[in-house]
Amino acid sequence: MSIDYKLAGSDTDTRNYKVSVKNLRSWFGTKQALKDISFDVKENTVTALIGPSGCGKTTLIRCLNRMNEMTAGASVQGSVFLDNIDIYDKSVDPVLIKRRMGMVFQKPNPFPTMSIYNNVAAGLKLNGIKDKNLINEVVEESLRGAALWDEVKDELAKPGISLSGGQQQRLCIARALAMQPEILLMDEPTSALDPIASAKIEELMNDLKKDLTIIIVTHNMQQAARVSDHTAFMYLGELVEYGPTKQIFENPEKELTERYISGKFG
Ligand code: ADP
Ligand code: MG
Repeated sequence: MSIDYKLAGSDTDTRNYKVSVKNLRSWFGTKQALKDISFDVKENTVTALIGPSGCGKTTLIRCLNRMNEMTAGASVQGSVFLDNIDIYDKSVDPVLIKRRMGMVFQKPNPFPTMSIYNNVAAGLKLNGIKDKNLINEVVEESLRGAALWDEVKDELAKPGISLSGGQQQRLCIARALAMQPEILLMDEPTSALDPIASAKIEELMNDLKKDLTIIIVTHNMQQAARVSDHTAFMYLGELVEYGPTKQIFENPEKELTERYISGKFG
């Protein structure tokens, strides 16, 4: 039997969008973590995923680049379209998907034994690029893109982990940028950072979205309101409401959304 849902936040035509999530469901063993999630993301925008702890934000963002399937016991059904191609189609190479959709994690995780330079260059080298000049260029461009170049240009040989937390997170962003992704997925990228370092990353997101599309998980609602164009509110594995950020925060349709954004639970 097929039920014809009117999908919250989802168009029927994936061609207008950079990313389209259609009827995505996910399980850990027999426990369902995501229940029929559908929404669309336009190119050169920032989309925020918000909701209380355990509602499925991390699971969802990890399903978007097929990282979730690397977790033992995890399974996924449904589709994620990237430029109108279903990344879960059997013909799609998950390695290529991860290259096109970079990920930045909650805790800055530079490669601990590597210099600042090599942290950014590692992916290129791994992909067989040997041209030193080209690598130099990409390293500089990526560090500039992550607003870190001016702070580290004279000490590129220093260990990545010698930097401050905020700098380490920007180094991780530079490392992701070096692969020239089209999408940047960020899972609570500032939750381990102080307010000044967080503000820097927020400012950076605003610059980066000119060149790519950003999807960010945040439990900081002020941050979602500041940085995002669209917001998805999740609760218990469901996408409760999705829409323009201003609407979600100022005039939500669902009472549950209103209660969450006004801090009545969380
Ligand atoms: P959020 O990021 O919103 O806090 P998660 O996506 O991490 O939520 O978790 C969603 C649900 O899936 C939770 O109930 C969590 O316990 C469960 N879960 C997450 N990761 C795993 C895992 N590796 N194994 C089993 N259950 C998991
Ligand atoms: Mg999480």
